[in-house]
Amino acid sequence: MTRTVRTTIPTRTVREGGGFLVRRPAAMGAMMSPFLLLDEMGPVDYGPGEAVGAPSHPHRGFETVTYLLDGCMVHEDSAGNSGTLRPGDVQWMTAGRGVIHSELPHEDVMRDGGRSHGFQIWVNLPAEHKMMAPRYQDVPSASIPEVTSDDGSVWAKVIAGRCLGTEAVIDTVLPITYLHLRLKPGARLEQPIDHDLNAMLYVFGGDLHVEQRRVEDGQLALLTSGSSVPLVAGDAGAELLVLAGPNLDEPIARYGPFVMNTEEEIIQAIQDYNAGRFA
Ligand code: FE
Repeated sequence: MTRTVRTTIPTRTVREGGGFLVRRPAAMGAMMSPFLLLDEMGPVDYGPGEAVGAPSHPHRGFETVTYLLDGCMVHEDSAGNSGTLRPGDVQWMTAGRGVIHSELPHEDVMRDGGRSHGFQIWVNLPAEHKMMAPRYQDVPSASIPEVTSDDGSVWAKVIAGRCLGTEAVIDTVLPITYLHLRLKPGARLEQPIDHDLNAMLYVFGGDLHVEQRRVEDGQLALLTSGSSVPLVAGDAGAELLVLAGPNLDEPIARYGPFVMNTEEEIIQAIQDYNAGRFA
């Protein structure tokens, strides 16, 4: 059975962190499980001295995954990890029981300005893994598999999961699919997605059709269940993310950068953070 579009959700532009603009789907919640957030950061062209990021802040109970398309970001965290993200790089950070980190433009970008574009998604952790030790995977673009279809009409970067017979290399807690696809005008791709997974598409260039339903630039399309999704790019081609993961079906208690299962666990997280008990 093929998947179709259950509903499309428009994005709205909001200010995040130190004041940078992101496109974020307007409606969130259980329909997106296990994803908690999908932010398209930019694209924005900064002038000298204009670039902003997210200074020191905590996370507990989930994973933050940053994928940069343009620009240069520097990450530092309380677990002693640091890394520089350049175009095509992915940072898969599992906050687990707690991390304090900063995500800032590189000093060259701060000084000179430049184009900045990327994605940050938040992946929820199941209750049994929320308090796992923090983990940090800094994966350079060259290590992330890319594949092009035989006729050259489809290009994919396989961040998690599998596409066109190519398997990802990043280790994920949950069985996540995270693909970046570029389809030439009129290109077709029948992308398999495990029947058990909750799946969605985020289009950020051009447009595409899933059978009769059109998905435009800036729309998140939640998919029905099925074993694959048929994508057909529009006249200008399409650029999109494919995201899929298991629906956790667990209660969500959320307070800013903490995502737990109960209010008590949120209060505990705030107390632990205030007492300096994050890594
Ligand atoms: Fe963060």
